[in-house]
Amino acid sequence: MNIFIAPVSFSNTSLLNKILPELNRYLNSFDVSFINLPLEIESSYSAERGQYFSTALIAESIKLTDDYNGKVLVLVEFDLFVPVFTYVFGEAQLNGKHAIVSVCRLHEEFHSGETNDELLLERSLKEILHELGHTLGLIHCRDWGCVMHVSQGIEEIDIKGKDFCRLCLNKILSQTS
Ligand SMILES: [Zn+2]
Ligand SMILES: [Zn+2]
Repeated sequence: MNIFIAPVSFSNTSLLNKILPELNRYLNSFDVSFINLPLEIESSYSAERGQYFSTALIAESIKLTDDYNGKVLVLVEFDLFVPVFTYVFGEAQLNGKHAIVSVCRLHEEFHSGETNDELLLERSLKEILHELGHTLGLIHCRDWGCVMHVSQGIEEIDIKGKDFCRLCLNKILSQTS
């Protein structure tokens, strides 16, 4: 199965270059690649909040990629929200095709003011795998070692593991053909 990662307005190319081989390693039964998507983002911006509405961005992505054969994950650097939360790291359609992840709050600078590229890569990888897991039909997992564990704060992202647990992995492997 194809997994298309669409970086939009994304300036950190060094992160992108590091993330692709990692994703292909963790999702070795999938074909992960980058695509260029001319996503319309301005209508999803809330000037009041200074953030972008993730569900509206997914709707824009659907307009452009609904006939794609595989999963499509939009990757952004700006901050995302849904109306009931102050922010979200990402959003996905359960058992659907589309997802979005923001690395905005995955930067250690956002929390402690200190740069940590290795931590940024690890957090980004976890959040991308997590949202893709939802598109592959996975719900939140109770295993803290599993990347499908819920993470509402940055501490929970750091605590949970990078891999899918055996149960979650079996579920996604049954869909790869
Ligand atoms: Zn989730
Ligand atoms: Zn799991």
